[in-house]
Amino acid sequence: MTAILRVLLIIILTLNLFQEGSLNNFMNFGKSYFETKILDGKAENVDRKCGYEGCPMTHPDMLNVHVVAHTHDDVGWLKTVDQYYYGSKSQFQKAGVQYIIDSVIQALLNNPERRFIYVESAFFSKWWQEQDDEMKSNVRMLVDEGRLEFVGGAWSMNDEAITHYQSLIDQFTWGLRFLDDNFGKCSRPRIGWQIDPFGHSLQQASLFAKMGYDGLFFSRLDYQDKEKRQKEKTMEMIWKTNQDLDEADLFTGVLYQRFYNAPDYFCFDILCNDEPIIDDIHSTEYNVDKRVEDFVRTVRNMSESYQTNNLMLTFGGDFTFMAAQMYFKNLDKLIKYTNERQDNFKVNTFYSTPSCYLKSLHESNTKWPIKSDDFFPYASDPHSYWTGYYTSRPTSKRFERIGNHFLQICKQLSAMAEVAEDFYDENLKRLKSEMGVMQHHDAITGTEKQHVTEDYHRELYDSIKGCEDNTRSSLNQLMIGHHSNGTNQLEFQFNSCLNLNISVCEVTESSSEFMVTVYNPISHETYQNVKIPVHGDSYIVRDYLNRVIDSQIIPIPTPVMNLHYRISKSSHELIFQAKNIPAIGYKSYYVTKTTTAPSEDNKEVEENLNEPEIVTIGDEELKIIFDSNGLVSEIIVDGVSSKLSQNFIYYKGANMNNEIFANRSSGAYIFRPEIDSVPVVVSEVIKIEVHKGEIVDEVHQIFNEWISQVVRIYKTSKYVEFEWLVGPIAIDDGIGKEIVSIFQTDIKSNDIFYTDSNGRNMLKRIRNKRETWDIEMNEKISGNYYPITTKIAIEDENHRLAILTDRPQGGSSLTDGSIELMVHRRLLRDDTFGVGEPLNETAYGEGLIVRGKHWIFFGTSKIKKFERIHQNELHLPNWLFFDNLNDITSFEWALTYNLMHSGLKTSLPTNVHLLTYEPWKENSILIRFEHIFESNEDGELSKPAIFNISEVFHGAVDFTEMTLAANQLREELNRLNFNEEEVLLQQNDKKTNLQLIAKILDPMIVLEPMEIRTFIVTFNSGNSLLVSFNFILSTLIIFLFKYFL
Ligand SMILES: [Zn+2]
Repeated sequence: MTAILRVLLIIILTLNLFQEGSLNNFMNFGKSYFETKILDGKAENVDRKCGYEGCPMTHPDMLNVHVVAHTHDDVGWLKTVDQYYYGSKSQFQKAGVQYIIDSVIQALLNNPERRFIYVESAFFSKWWQEQDDEMKSNVRMLVDEGRLEFVGGAWSMNDEAITHYQSLIDQFTWGLRFLDDNFGKCSRPRIGWQIDPFGHSLQQASLFAKMGYDGLFFSRLDYQDKEKRQKEKTMEMIWKTNQDLDEADLFTGVLYQRFYNAPDYFCFDILCNDEPIIDDIHSTEYNVDKRVEDFVRTVRNMSESYQTNNLMLTFGGDFTFMAAQMYFKNLDKLIKYTNERQDNFKVNTFYSTPSCYLKSLHESNTKWPIKSDDFFPYASDPHSYWTGYYTSRPTSKRFERIGNHFLQICKQLSAMAEVAEDFYDENLKRLKSEMGVMQHHDAITGTEKQHVTEDYHRELYDSIKGCEDNTRSSLNQLMIGHHSNGTNQLEFQFNSCLNLNISVCEVTESSSEFMVTVYNPISHETYQNVKIPVHGDSYIVRDYLNRVIDSQIIPIPTPVMNLHYRISKSSHELIFQAKNIPAIGYKSYYVTKTTTAPSEDNKEVEENLNEPEIVTIGDEELKIIFDSNGLVSEIIVDGVSSKLSQNFIYYKGANMNNEIFANRSSGAYIFRPEIDSVPVVVSEVIKIEVHKGEIVDEVHQIFNEWISQVVRIYKTSKYVEFEWLVGPIAIDDGIGKEIVSIFQTDIKSNDIFYTDSNGRNMLKRIRNKRETWDIEMNEKISGNYYPITTKIAIEDENHRLAILTDRPQGGSSLTDGSIELMVHRRLLRDDTFGVGEPLNETAYGEGLIVRGKHWIFFGTSKIKKFERIHQNELHLPNWLFFDNLNDITSFEWALTYNLMHSGLKTSLPTNVHLLTYEPWKENSILIRFEHIFESNEDGELSKPAIFNISEVFHGAVDFTEMTLAANQLREELNRLNFNEEEVLLQQNDKKTNLQLIAKILDPMIVLEPMEIRTFIVTFNSGNSLLVSFNFILSTLIIFLFKYFL
């Protein structure tokens, strides 16, 4: 066998000779993309370069103060996105982004020494569209000369706690694409700028590294952590984001200032009241000497917290620079007069940018400390843990997930259509933009005013509706087999039902024959159950070959039927299993309402229990037992019984005057239970109804007037589904409440639990502990809450309980063996962190009602494998499209239409997911493959994956690998390397060999655990001989690879 490998290696190395040129074509980072532009003297050209080469000189013997002028423009908070942009509704906040950009650009053109950074592409792109050619050319010059630098650059400055990595990657791709298309390489951000988000995630840092950023700066971290870092000069560090991956380290720095404002007394903005610099020595107001002395004292003091003789000083804040000339004029003077006194003070001050500051740090050759955990939860004082926003506005958080779900489907179907209609691009653009907005740190977080929430919802709803035109057009093309002209003449409507969560769907309730098209957005065949609301109790379901398949009818739970705003005829739900739904594809079903009595098969067994007794649901592999009080009490997996109980509890939200830290209220940001209060159990004895059938067993539980739940086991699944309905939360007792679903087991979890980082890596949490400092914990409950984007787990050597969620929420394990998840909250007082409203959401004239799901996995550590696979399926489940078919018989239907389709030519390895599949430019699509397992999760599936990329798509021939956000060729990536204080163990040798194979054989790629790789795929006539040769070779290598690894 060694001989075969040697032959193989010779083949590989021979091939490599032909490809060496392309492999070594690294970009010379920071090189000039500068073009000389003279604009009739209107704009001054300073012949400076963008990037690191254009940075100001520093002085080795002085403290170098990098003055960074900036504005923080929230994409919605106290005002809506458009209210902020246009500057309307000043009663909420004086802020107008259009004036900020207008005025900053003019101020930059007036003085070439000035520099400014801008962050949010959502706003900049809106402003850009309104500019004429001359202004555009001036702005391009400012970018080319490094005078205007983009940092961050995503559509919005996203939250990091509860965002999903798929949406983060999308919103960076979308923002950076705007910059790249309009300003080219000089606009490519090198710095992550997350100055306002409420804590920072490991996954976000990892994404920054993979997108090619050199560093990250932020300001909000636990106040105790910050104090320690200031004392120990560890405000700047190397963040090790993934031990298993290359290029996963990110330089990370914490801003000194409280948040990101100007130093005290030096805010020269029109929104501030600090004194200007007055330099007329004859004036009685003259203040230069005093102002410079104060400034020098301030920066000297700040620099004590940092290791080098450089200090980054931000000047700006929320919506600052509306009158940029005023701010800049004073900064010009501050810089001038400080430097005039530098022989004395040894302080060198200049306009700079975060990337120039980073360059100075890089050149200092300092050895930096390392960090490998994350920055959650964030606490700003002893009683303010920002763990409430993990759950605030739970219906918004779910809607955001639905937006992502449909965006992925719309992108896929738009890419798959034979003929892309003109409107595809516009609709996709709108939904991508809105999803970018939803990631903002005052959108998905629920920390905005109520009217802003409603604006987000309206815009997201309209964008989803717009993209339905794309899915409708594409599905018609795929199903009918030829291209139809215009949406009006389309044969099918492919309607979505966005109210399926409360069992409402117009088409299925009102038609006696209808088609359900089950679309699977993930890159593996799926076996999921379809559940649709119907009016009647007898239906027949046929598959694409006109064969009748098993189905079951089950009544809609009474509390759902009783929702007063639910306008629907449906009383039951029809359930059937959609088997073998093709990867990135669909299969259609034909449903007929019948008048005959239900057959034995779909007739359910109904038990209404008046007398308390023990109830069991499920099958041999998985059972749940309910005790005589109607509560879940036990789980039986493969015949082995274990304790598992579940109930709802609530915390009473602290309602105090906020005047001192100890009087903090629970609010949109903060979770704080009443002092010394114990959680209240909602109910000890609950009413239940049991419904059993061939496909699914359900127990409907009613806990009180405003909490009910369905516990459900599909006969083919590995998990138990808990579908809860909570609200309107009663507040007639004058007490705000935070509702928690709590699970209790006998697992000896020993203070440890695990939570996900943005839906990807699992992180270890230890109760009442932080990895990098000894915490003084003043809030034992909320201080132990962490963001749960998709999953929380506990385990011991025998058992493991993992819970997957359908939306982000706060969660914890406050006692051994337990997991709790906060599903809803309603509070009566603001927490005074800015939003100015208590979190008391109402809808339809009453307190908000929320319905959601928890999926419970229980067993030995082997279930981790199923958790990962199902996590993908539950995040992007089948999407159902509905059509009335009253004029077509099932026979005609099966004969006429293409009722099954897959967008993939071949299936991918089980551990690989096609994360992105979307139209890119001209004849190309953007794709991303990801390895969905961590390195130690499964004996088999945690191994690296290898496959032939040229065999995945029909007709694809050219694959160009890009960095993660697709704004740079992968081979051009060249990041700054920083020295570390200590060196950690690095990757194993196998990886090097695999990467070698991957580089050499173009069509074949290797994915390490948790790795994501991004490609632009073009479709044209390729060299089929080469492809065939590569295919044979790659098949051979895959065989050897699997054999030896
Ligand atoms: Zn903000």
